[in-house]
Amino acid sequence: MKYPKIRELKEAVVSLLSPAYTSSFPKKAHTPFENFRGKPEVNDKECVGCETCSHVCPSKAITIVDNRETGIREITRDFGKCIFCGMCQEHCITGKGVILSDKIFDLAVFDRTKIVEKQEKDLVVCKHCSAIITTADHIQYLHKKLGPKAYASILNLNLLHEKLELAPREETDVEIKDGLKRKDMFNIICPNCMRSVLIEYI
Ligand code: SF4
Ligand code: SF4
Repeated sequence: MKYPKIRELKEAVVSLLSPAYTSSFPKKAHTPFENFRGKPEVNDKECVGCETCSHVCPSKAITIVDNRETGIREITRDFGKCIFCGMCQEHCITGKGVILSDKIFDLAVFDRTKIVEKQEKDLVVCKHCSAIITTADHIQYLHKKLGPKAYASILNLNLLHEKLELAPREETDVEIKDGLKRKDMFNIICPNCMRSVLIEYI
């Protein structure tokens, strides 16, 4: 058809003269609606580095790299991959480590590395078998949650002893009996090799 229909012409004129149906962003600041799921905001003091959020993130936006040599766990959150599903917040073991902002939504950048955030946490590494147990913050969080029950676990007991400075220092090498060293008892902290260490020394 050579000319537009009258109905289409009318719709175009009405649309041109009507206010925008959506918000005027970016001309005017946009106010998100209630319960809006925006950028996940990390609270490093409340995050214990347990890695749960990296397991539940469907878009693999959260990655964990453990370095035995340095004893550091590096947590990387790439918000360029985030789909704002809220799974990390829902499954965070402390409930406060990561919370989706209801205000921050504008993440457009020219350089994608600007929306990548990193955290570092100290690792607990077994001195016998070099297995990575978890982070020191995670263990301390479990101590607080368990209260006196923490003493039921050899792992927790040993770390509590170290914290209270009841455990012998590395340089102390006190022999008890039959070659059994007191520091060896305190070094039994690893669920990975605990059994073999017990068999070896007892
Ligand atoms: S909101 Fe969803 S996609 Fe984004 S980091 Fe959390 S779990 Fe991953
Ligand atoms: S689940 Fe929570 S505490 Fe664990 S690493 Fe993620 S944000 Fe931190």
